[in-house]
Amino acid sequence: MSQAPSISTANTAIHDLHPFHMKAVRIALAGNPNCGKTTAFNEYTGTHQHVGNYPGVTVDKKEGTVSLDGENIVLVDLPGTYSLTPYSQEEIVARNVLAPANDTPKPLAVIDIVDASALERSLFLTVQIMEMGMPVVLACNMMDEARQAGIHVDTALLSARLHIPVIPTIARKGTGLKEALREAIRFGQASQKETLHISYGPDLDPVLKEMEALITAQGLLTHHYTPRWVAIKLLENDEVVLNEAREANPELTEKLMAQRARVADHLKNTLNTTPESIIADYRYGYIRGVLKNGVVTQESNKSRLALSDKLDKVLTNTLFGPLIMLGVLFLIFQVTFVVGAYPQGWVEEAFGWLGEACGALIPEGMLQSMIVDGLIGGVGGVVSFVPLIMIMFLFIAFLEDSGYMARIAYMLDRVFRMFGLHGASVMPYIIGGGIAGGCAIPGVMATRTLRSPKEKLATLLTLPYMACGAKLPVFMLLVGVFFPENPGATMFSLTLAGWVSALMVARLLRSTIVKGEATPFVMELPPYRMPTLRSVCTHCWERTWMYLKKAGTVLVAVSILIWASMTFPKLDPELAAPFEANIAQLEERLAAVPEESAEALAIEEELDAARADLASEELRYSYAGRMGTAIEPLTAPAGFDWRTDIALLGGIAAKEAIVATLGTAYSLGEVDPEEATTLADRLAQDSGWNKATALALMLFVLLYSPCFVALVVIRQEAGNWGWVAFSMIFNTALAYAVAVLAHRIGTALWT
Ligand code: GDP
Ligand code: MG
Repeated sequence: MSQAPSISTANTAIHDLHPFHMKAVRIALAGNPNCGKTTAFNEYTGTHQHVGNYPGVTVDKKEGTVSLDGENIVLVDLPGTYSLTPYSQEEIVARNVLAPANDTPKPLAVIDIVDASALERSLFLTVQIMEMGMPVVLACNMMDEARQAGIHVDTALLSARLHIPVIPTIARKGTGLKEALREAIRFGQASQKETLHISYGPDLDPVLKEMEALITAQGLLTHHYTPRWVAIKLLENDEVVLNEAREANPELTEKLMAQRARVADHLKNTLNTTPESIIADYRYGYIRGVLKNGVVTQESNKSRLALSDKLDKVLTNTLFGPLIMLGVLFLIFQVTFVVGAYPQGWVEEAFGWLGEACGALIPEGMLQSMIVDGLIGGVGGVVSFVPLIMIMFLFIAFLEDSGYMARIAYMLDRVFRMFGLHGASVMPYIIGGGIAGGCAIPGVMATRTLRSPKEKLATLLTLPYMACGAKLPVFMLLVGVFFPENPGATMFSLTLAGWVSALMVARLLRSTIVKGEATPFVMELPPYRMPTLRSVCTHCWERTWMYLKKAGTVLVAVSILIWASMTFPKLDPELAAPFEANIAQLEERLAAVPEESAEALAIEEELDAARADLASEELRYSYAGRMGTAIEPLTAPAGFDWRTDIALLGGIAAKEAIVATLGTAYSLGEVDPEEATTLADRLAQDSGWNKATALALMLFVLLYSPCFVALVVIRQEAGNWGWVAFSMIFNTALAYAVAVLAHRIGTALWT
């Protein structure tokens, strides 16, 4: 090879950087989205990262340790990418791991996981990692699926052509993974390493060679990159490397960029193209050359992937696709409610029994009130929805793992363009609760996959309108009490309302404060797969556990805090006196008349009313009561009284607190504990509540300010507090307007 000298300098540079002195060897896992990377990572490390059969779930890099032949190895799971050009956060994260600018040790080698049925596309990333000078071991994954589809991959031949080890693997069964890791360590420690050198044709090659010589001579960025790679990146107009280079040596960078400008002009005039696209073309050319003549053979007419294609003809059909999608989602809601009602009843009964038992065991007083009303009332209200949530999560896990979720994203992409969003916005929306049960926090984090900052911003500001898992208990409670005729349909409509609001506000934002161009959409549709029972159950359990953990930690604390703010300060004895005197007088009168007589019943009723007045007065006197009362006039047009206002204030801390607070508020003001045991019964009997109030409250909860943690994450992703303030104020104002309107219409319709 003519460039031999430059190769050897590159090698020693890399060689010196390898952290042999470090105790643990680091190996990076790279690959396209959906190649099985997370599955492999979990097989190696034994942890349960979330695995989904759709792209864009893993955004951060994750680390885990694995011990192999008595040695500890740190595995770094990179985000899934198709390329290493830094257009998205994922690509930047991936690249920084492979060529760290700071003190983070560089991985010894990379295991690049590729889908055996999609080698051409997958190798595009492989080639770029190899060009960086990284030792790469190719894990040719999904061999089971390829075999079933009649695709045969000659891994030995592929290995010989690429000059790197190629190991056939089935990540889902763990097959070949150990061997791939062993190979990666061996290959990474081998002294004989060769950086891949692709020819970029008669126009670019000479320029590249000149640039490389200059870079080598002045050592531009060569402490962590190879000179040829720096040259290629500058030719590609890679902003990240360009900025680094400008900082390190502005003069030389200008000289190099002038060279680039010359060749770019020439290409524009002669071929009407850019250096970037020539580079991509030659990379693909190289890959096609590698795969030619015998590496991949396809048996004709035996194809499971063909089955996937056939399914897609129907399931993503322009007409039937959306209909089937709506049908599937609707069915999920129906089944969840019909089947879920049984276990939900049992859990409610269990908590009711627990409350009674504790009430009997603990002497009356502050402690009893705190435990029975505050803790058991608050947490119980939330936990009773766990069965419903579990069933819903079970379905969602199935949708994700089977590959249908990716189709949903694909179909919705067409709709999304109309609202100034991007196809990649679909995933954050769905994670955020687009299919009821998500959570805005990971949803906001998932917007990192969006390339355009404006589309990212519009997405993360609107996804909190989705029906997240914490809002579900509020909906389920109110739907169960006030819309018992068709709970599934009502829940489904609420979910749709979340979508409609999100899309409309996104459209509004994109044509006002976050104006800008749309960027194109590329997404792979993974083949349909039958999810394993184990993986569906694991995912369902993981999410349920997250929910329970929150109920058990944050919510216990919030419950007690809210209970305290609803109990203190104690009603001034002077103010309580007239009520107590009234009660005492009634009690005396009751004792004087014969039991069970008509007179006695009348007095008992009066007594109940008097006790309720006192309880209500006590609650109103508390800190929370005062706050609620202060804003009551404001929320009256929406039909909310001060108790609801207390719950809504608590909901900003955590949406789960809404039901918990309502539970506490209504059990503290409780009149006759024998008649009304559950919160649902209490609301049904309360004269202040009706269908219109319930509808207004549900819409308000759907749309108002994101919860505290979500706000923190929005700050992190949006970059400043301005957007956090916007989220709180704008969303609450919108929610208020919608709730008032809904209350008006509801009142007109139903009363
Ligand atoms: P990632 O996006 O690269 O992290 O991919 P995941 O680990 O999430 O895997 C995507 C899907 O492919 C999941 O449904 C896995 O169960 C499945 N999968 C992973 N490896 C294999 C394999 O070797 N064979 C088959 N048939 N499926 C696999
Ligand atoms: Mg993953």
